[in-house]
Amino acid sequence: MTETGIDLVKDETPATPGTPLLEVRDLQVEFHTREGVAKAVNGVSYSVEAGETLAVLGESGSGKSVTAQAIMGILDMPPGRIAGGEILFQGQDLLAMTEAQRRKIRGNKIAMIFQDALSSLNPVLSVGYQLGEMFRVHKGASRKEAKARAVELMDRVRIPAAKDRVNDYPHQFSGGMRQRIMIAMALALEPDLIIADEPTTALDVTVQAQVMDLLAELQQEYRMGLILITHDLGVVADVADRIAVMYAGRIVERGDVREIYRTPAHPYTKGLLDSIPRLDQKGSDLYAIRGLPPTLTSLPAGCSFSPRCDRAREICVTERPLPVTVLDAEGAPVPGRSSACHFWKETLHG
Ligand code: ADP
Ligand code: MG
Repeated sequence: MTETGIDLVKDETPATPGTPLLEVRDLQVEFHTREGVAKAVNGVSYSVEAGETLAVLGESGSGKSVTAQAIMGILDMPPGRIAGGEILFQGQDLLAMTEAQRRKIRGNKIAMIFQDALSSLNPVLSVGYQLGEMFRVHKGASRKEAKARAVELMDRVRIPAAKDRVNDYPHQFSGGMRQRIMIAMALALEPDLIIADEPTTALDVTVQAQVMDLLAELQQEYRMGLILITHDLGVVADVADRIAVMYAGRIVERGDVREIYRTPAHPYTKGLLDSIPRLDQKGSDLYAIRGLPPTLTSLPAGCSFSPRCDRAREICVTERPLPVTVLDAEGAPVPGRSSACHFWKETLHG
């Protein structure tokens, strides 16, 4: 028993049964900076199944992108360093592979979509050329075949008049259309997993929804796993199956999307949910979590969120809460649901 009067149940329930498509286990990534060692990813574990969407949420700086970069094998090393953990893709540890083996997986089996299409696309090559290149390089297609496949893909992501636009350059497309082209690039080789890092953050709100819907639809159709990284809880409700909430390099809550929306079990998740703008609210009424995330070079001894938490008591300052399985009203463990909060129960029912 802890001071809170609740039995600590170690979080051992697998999030999903069977061998996951991707499983990140206790991943640790450090950056060596002048201020000291920044633990950007501090023991992150999550998994994704084929055909499933995992949303990774959290404020800027929580380690979402660094985790993705470690999975893709595109982490800046140095200053970055993988200090521990495993990344199992279809059961094989990516971190134990040679660069040549990883290159085969990158693009072919795991593709990534970034926030900023303009800096990911080459400005001096037509989009058709860049899409076609995927087929020429990876599949040995002829120029003519490659162009035909490029038009097909542009159709798939619903770029109007694809045939007429295949020779256009990236700057000739709107932001939303460019992001569709990025989705087409990611889809080209029919990967098993797509990691989308803030794919709609740079777009207008109305366009955001269209691009997100398209991504969700294609993910279903191709039965891919999707890791959707976002700081915007508003966009994930409709598309995600499960959620992992990150704070200061750790996962503080994870579980089924509907359950977390209905009954968050971590004050940080609750704060994020309360900060979603609602149509019936005026701008000035908008709730924001007070304070700022901690400095990663000097994390507090107890709960990293405690300095910002209204529920924090002494134990939160002295003792770091480990993830525990959340129990339902009958006291039964909820599969795949965990919270790293000493007061998860009070949060769940408060
Ligand atoms: P986000 O959740 O916004 O995607 P990131 O994963 O990009 O956050 O970054 C997490 C933390 O990792 C940052 O707050 C920063 O301290 C550290 N970090 C990321 N990239 C670098 C880098 N190239 N050099 C030093 N520190 C970095
Ligand atoms: Mg990021």
